[in-house]
Amino acid sequence: TVRRLEPHATTIFSEVTQLAARVGAVNLGQGFPDTDGPASMIEAAVRAMREGHNQYPPGTGVPELRHAIVAHETEHTGLVHDPDTEVLVTVGATEAIAGAVVGLVEPDDEVVVIEPYYDSYAATVAMAGATRRAARMVRSGDHFRLDVDSLRAAFSPRTRAVLVNTPHNPTGAVLPREDLAQIAALCHEFDAIAISDEVYEHLTYDHNEHVSIATLPGMAERTLRISSAGKMLNCTGWKIGWVTGPAELVAGVRAAKQYMSYTAGTPLQLGVAHALSHEGEWIRTLRDGMQDRRDQLVDILTGVGLDLAVTQGTYFLTADPRPLGVTDAASWCLELPERIGVAAVPFAPFTDSYSDEWSHLVRFAFCKRPGVLEEAGLRLRALA
Ligand code: PMP
Ligand code: GLN
Repeated sequence: TVRRLEPHATTIFSEVTQLAARVGAVNLGQGFPDTDGPASMIEAAVRAMREGHNQYPPGTGVPELRHAIVAHETEHTGLVHDPDTEVLVTVGATEAIAGAVVGLVEPDDEVVVIEPYYDSYAATVAMAGATRRAARMVRSGDHFRLDVDSLRAAFSPRTRAVLVNTPHNPTGAVLPREDLAQIAALCHEFDAIAISDEVYEHLTYDHNEHVSIATLPGMAERTLRISSAGKMLNCTGWKIGWVTGPAELVAGVRAAKQYMSYTAGTPLQLGVAHALSHEGEWIRTLRDGMQDRRDQLVDILTGVGLDLAVTQGTYFLTADPRPLGVTDAASWCLELPERIGVAAVPFAPFTDSYSDEWSHLVRFAFCKRPGVLEEAGLRLRALA
């Protein structure tokens, strides 16, 4: 492994998932749903395969999918993109993020990340040979928000991009418009772009609304908006994602992407295109079921004495196990699967510093069938 990737050699998600599988634990670590997306989407992919759509698609993605992405985005955000020059289909959001950073950030540049952040952000900044500057989220009352002072301190004349993520993994926060406006103001002041990871755009709960930073004044010109079918349509294993934005920024992502994977699976793209065009109602109601799962896991975890932050969006609940006498969440998460048969992930791999601020926090995923959460609940009682 090259030096710049050494700190990122294994991801916490494969580590915890392997451990959970080895000891037969209920895996509330890695965030993936355990039910399928719409049946018509799977049928459309199978049909595409049977009908001979089995060779390379165009480099930017099949036209059916690029058109469907634009229509879906316009319906939900009001943004209007050209399906030929302003949309790129990628191998999951992961490749869109990596392509954006590698294709648009120079080695002398700085990239602002907001910790805790999805672990691929730091790794892709390292791949680009650029410098990562961390701002942070803070607990504000019962949930997390952006710490605006740390954000301002992280920007400099060398800032090329800020990686924004809302709804936010791992805290479950949905960034309010005012927080996004602060980020936008700094992008304008320092002439930086926003790389906006919105994979949980449809998973917001209670009164919380997803706002894309691309919709703020003057930001469409400097934002790459990234999403993924994985979280929108319960098909994380298909790895179909996309990025939209101004043609010159999308061209940068494409320049990198064409040598990373060239393209993503044709029949799967056609399946997702079908679902985006015909399963709008399925997508709109996904959040209702997910909100019920959140409430179920909130009851379970508060029942065993964990202190929880309110989840406004995503698949995840942030828990503080200090009331149970646990202070080192990382080692607790490593022993939990064997001890009680439930897996969760610590916050530490989502952060720059293993500081006191994060070292006691744990992320539990609730994107599972009610029976699975119930079984986790029975096992978690051993903690109480
Ligand atoms: N960003 C965030 C915030 C995520 O939680 C994930 C995991 N789904 C990804 C990006 C990667 O998405 P994909 O599986 O589509 O590559
Ligand atoms: N996005 C999911 C999570 O945060 C899965 C990540 C992964 O497997 N790389 O848990």
